Amino acid sequence: MAKSKPRVNFIHQIIQNDLNKEIHQHIHTRFPPEPNGHLHIGHAKSICLNFGIARTFPGTCNLRFDDTNPEKEDQAYVDAIKQDIHWLGFDWQDNLFHSSDYFEQLYAYAIELIEKNLAYVDSQDADTMRTNRGTLTEAGVDSPYRERSIAENLSLFTAMRNAEYANGTHVLRAKIDMASPNINLRDPVIYRIKHTPHQRTGDTWCIYPMYDYTHCISDAIEGITHSLCTLEFEDHRPLYDWFLDNISIKAHPRQIEFSRLNLDYTVMSKRLLTQLVTENHVSGWDDPRMPTISGIKRRGYSAASIREFANRVGVTKKQNTIELSSLEACIREELESSAPRVMAVLKPLKVTITNYPQEQSELLLAQNHPKDPEMGTREVPFGRTLYIEQDDFMLEPDKMFFRLAPGREVRLRYAYYLTCDEVVLDENGQVCELLCRYDPETKGGRSPDGRKVKATLHWVSAEHAIQAEVRLYDRLFNHPNPLANKDESFLEHLNPDSLQRLTACKLEPSLASASIEQRVQFERLGYFIADCVEHSARTPVFNRIVTLRDTWAKLNK
Ligand code: ATP
Ligand code: MG
Repeated sequence: MAKSKPRVNFIHQIIQNDLNKEIHQHIHTRFPPEPNGHLHIGHAKSICLNFGIARTFPGTCNLRFDDTNPEKEDQAYVDAIKQDIHWLGFDWQDNLFHSSDYFEQLYAYAIELIEKNLAYVDSQDADTMRTNRGTLTEAGVDSPYRERSIAENLSLFTAMRNAEYANGTHVLRAKIDMASPNINLRDPVIYRIKHTPHQRTGDTWCIYPMYDYTHCISDAIEGITHSLCTLEFEDHRPLYDWFLDNISIKAHPRQIEFSRLNLDYTVMSKRLLTQLVTENHVSGWDDPRMPTISGIKRRGYSAASIREFANRVGVTKKQNTIELSSLEACIREELESSAPRVMAVLKPLKVTITNYPQEQSELLLAQNHPKDPEMGTREVPFGRTLYIEQDDFMLEPDKMFFRLAPGREVRLRYAYYLTCDEVVLDENGQVCELLCRYDPETKGGRSPDGRKVKATLHWVSAEHAIQAEVRLYDRLFNHPNPLANKDESFLEHLNPDSLQRLTACKLEPSLASASIEQRVQFERLGYFIADCVEHSARTPVFNRIVTLRDTWAKLNK
């Protein structure tokens, strides 16, 4: 893969300016996932950005779990997220944090806001509160509880913490401005009551801080200098700043927004990905069709190809959707030069070479890479019975078909010329075997008399073949934007043909020792890898990572 030059983006420029002006000596970023699902390729963009900045400047990048919503979060997700970040090639060293580490401090700052008369306990029910918030064109309405005394607010908030109230009876709100044109500033909720144990703090808390309140304070506690988030938080920035301006914390990180990564033919929200998993539309978070990091990894992408993709996509403020084929191009380019070539037949058709001696076999020399002699050679066994691809034979060939047909001669890769003499049909009239003749003078695929053939086929010796299952993948959705139509579920756009399982494939014997790290090219068929979950030497399972060319674009445009 031609690794592209690391791209400088507008955030790098802001940071460089801050360093030049000596606003900061040391740059500190963070990647803040909520542990409510597995990471996806969109998160990879944010990981490469945040951890990348720490490398470039250099600085520090924290991993912080934003774990303020105990109902949806799970330790299993925490573990999976850590694994995915490591796989991508990044490390947080000792800088692992959780927002839940700060629950006590967050509580103390809330008390501070109450004491400054900048927060109050509201006892309206959720529906009333929503109605009173107003709309984009109408100001909100002050809560009747807005002017509660500081003493009453302190006493109520303490009682909330002490589990004296049921869910939904009270919330703590910031006292900002119910008429603000920015709805986020209309007295946002800071704390809500949730009698739900937390995966890390257990039963200690029954009130939990809201995201907007927690996030900026966590950033400040950790000494983050630049808090990078996606564009939908732009309207939340005044709130981010308001909280930090009104509590007695010194640090004030700068929030900078950039556009999310969107890919066509994909959904990318954890909520929707969770639905695909829990409703069994896919085999799990790591299903090779999923845009999750674990899925992409299992599909066979390398971490380097994902980092390369993130670099090519770049970081801007412009909303856009990237073509899935540009992700595929990254791994294809890498594998074109690095993947050894092997032969495999996915839909086998038996060929008997009638003039090849019974019981005989031989080893033929095959190149591991046509353009890179340094990748060496290997020996491939050849015998009287072979398999070729069903698609490489046509009983009645049309004009554009140059491969094997009755009476026609083709070349077998690294082997001999082969002519089809006779076709055996089964009881249903389907071709089930070809009786062929080989020319012993054409060993290595060259004919001494200069005879030309129009096609070269791959093949596998029947006696030596490994039987395997091979899985071919297509896009999980058959619509460029599965969420485009609000009236229908994205599930209606699931591609019914996104997975094809071929269970009677024949592989050349060198693949017997295939490791789950080894990506190979099955000649003429694409790039493949052993499935890291289900593959074993006894029951080999291979995934197609990507086709050899971007045939999809041509077919679908
Ligand atoms: P989702 O809706 O998929 O759950 P999220 O933003 O709620 O996404 P978080 O776990 O909160 O997920 O995200 C962690 C970090 O990753 C945040 O800083 C977020 O901005 C960033 N991020 C999430 N999705 C994308 C994306 N598609 N492109 C770039 N960054 C993203
Ligand atoms: Mg989130």
